[in-house]
Amino acid sequence: METICQSCGMPLDSDEVRGTEADGSLNSDYCIYCYKDGKFTQPDLTLEENIASAANFAKEAGMAPEQMTEWAKAVHPTLKRWKK
Ligand SMILES: [Zn+2]
Repeated sequence: METICQSCGMPLDSDEVRGTEADGSLNSDYCIYCYKDGKFTQPDLTLEENIASAANFAKEAGMAPEQMTEWAKAVHPTLKRWKK
C-alpha cells in the first residue's frame, strides 16, 4: 500500500521526504514539507488553501493543474489532518 502525506497527499516513498519529530526521528504520517521538527510548517493552513496550492505541484505529479485540483478536492478531505 502506498503511503501518502496525511496533509498534502504527496507519496511518502522514501525516508528523505518524511517529516521529522523534534528528536530527529521520522514521522510516518506527514512529509517534510508539511511537518518538520515535531510541528506543522504551516500551522494555520486551511483545507481550502491546501487544495488551492495543490495545482502548484501538478508538474511534479505529472498531472494538469485542473486535474491536480480535482484530485486534491477528492483526496485532501479524507486525510488525517483535514478529517473532521
Ligand atoms: Zn505533506
